[in-house]
Amino acid sequence: MILRQALAPIVDFAFPPRCPCCGGEVIGSMSDFDERLCGTCWPKLGLPGQPACRLCQIPLASDESTPEQLCGRCALQAPLHDGIAAASIYGAVSRELLLALKHGGKFAQAGPMGRFMALRFSAAAIAEPEDPLVIPVPLHFTRMWKRGYNQSALLAKAFAAQKHWDIAPDALRRIRKTPSLDGLGSAERREALEGAIIVSPKARFDIEGRDIVLIDDVVTSGATTDACVAALKKAGAARVVIACYARVPLERMAVTLEADHESP
Ligand SMILES: [Zn+2]
Ligand SMILES: [Zn+2]
Repeated sequence: MILRQALAPIVDFAFPPRCPCCGGEVIGSMSDFDERLCGTCWPKLGLPGQPACRLCQIPLASDESTPEQLCGRCALQAPLHDGIAAASIYGAVSRELLLALKHGGKFAQAGPMGRFMALRFSAAAIAEPEDPLVIPVPLHFTRMWKRGYNQSALLAKAFAAQKHWDIAPDALRRIRKTPSLDGLGSAERREALEGAIIVSPKARFDIEGRDIVLIDDVVTSGATTDACVAALKKAGAARVVIACYARVPLERMAVTLEADHESP
C-alpha cells in the first residue's frame, strides 16, 4: 500500500488514469474522493443539496420546503425505511457510471463508487446508525448467473470496508423473479414484488434488533427497497436506512429511467 502510494505519481504520469465516465484523461485529483472523474464530468455529478426531503432525499423546490422538510409522499405517509442517504442525484454522469457497472461489466468501478457512497453517507440528514449490518439488495439467481455479479453486493462490500461495518451479503434473497416494473403504478409495483424478497433463515439471528444499512445502486420509486425494508423489519431489524449511489429526482422518474434501472 505504501509502495503503491509512493509510486502513484509516477504511474499516473506514465499511464494517466482514465475517467470512468467519458474515458478522458484525469489529471490530478478532481475531488476529495477517489472516483477519479475528469474535470468535465466531476462538476456534472450532482451531489444532493438543500432543500431535500429529510427522509427520502428527493430534491424539493425551495417553495415546496415545509417546516418538517418532507416531500409530499413522505408527509402523506411515513415511509417504512428510516432514511435514504444518496451519494449523488441521478443525472447524465451517474447514469453512465451505473449502466457501465450494471450492464457494461465494469465491476471494478464498484470499489471507488462504494467508497464514495460511504464518504457521502454522513452528509445525509439521517441519524448515523449504531454498529449496523450492511446488506445489499439481492438479485434473483438467474440474473446473477447471467451478469456474473450483483452490483449492489459489490458496492456494499466497498461501502462496509470503508466504514468498518459488518456486512451480510446474502442476508436477503430474491426467491421469485419479478417482472419489469416499467409503467406500473405504486400499488401494482408492490403487488409485483409481494413475497419476492425474503430474509435468509440463517441471517435472522444477526438482523434481530440491529440497525441495518441497505445498499442499492439507484433508488427510483423505491418499490424494490421498500420490499427489502419490509422483509428486514419483519425479521426484527431495528432501524433500516438505505444508502444508494444515485437518487432519481421526481421529475426524472420517467419510463426510460425505469427501463434502465428498475427492471429486476
Ligand atoms: Zn470524464
Ligand atoms: Zn420524502
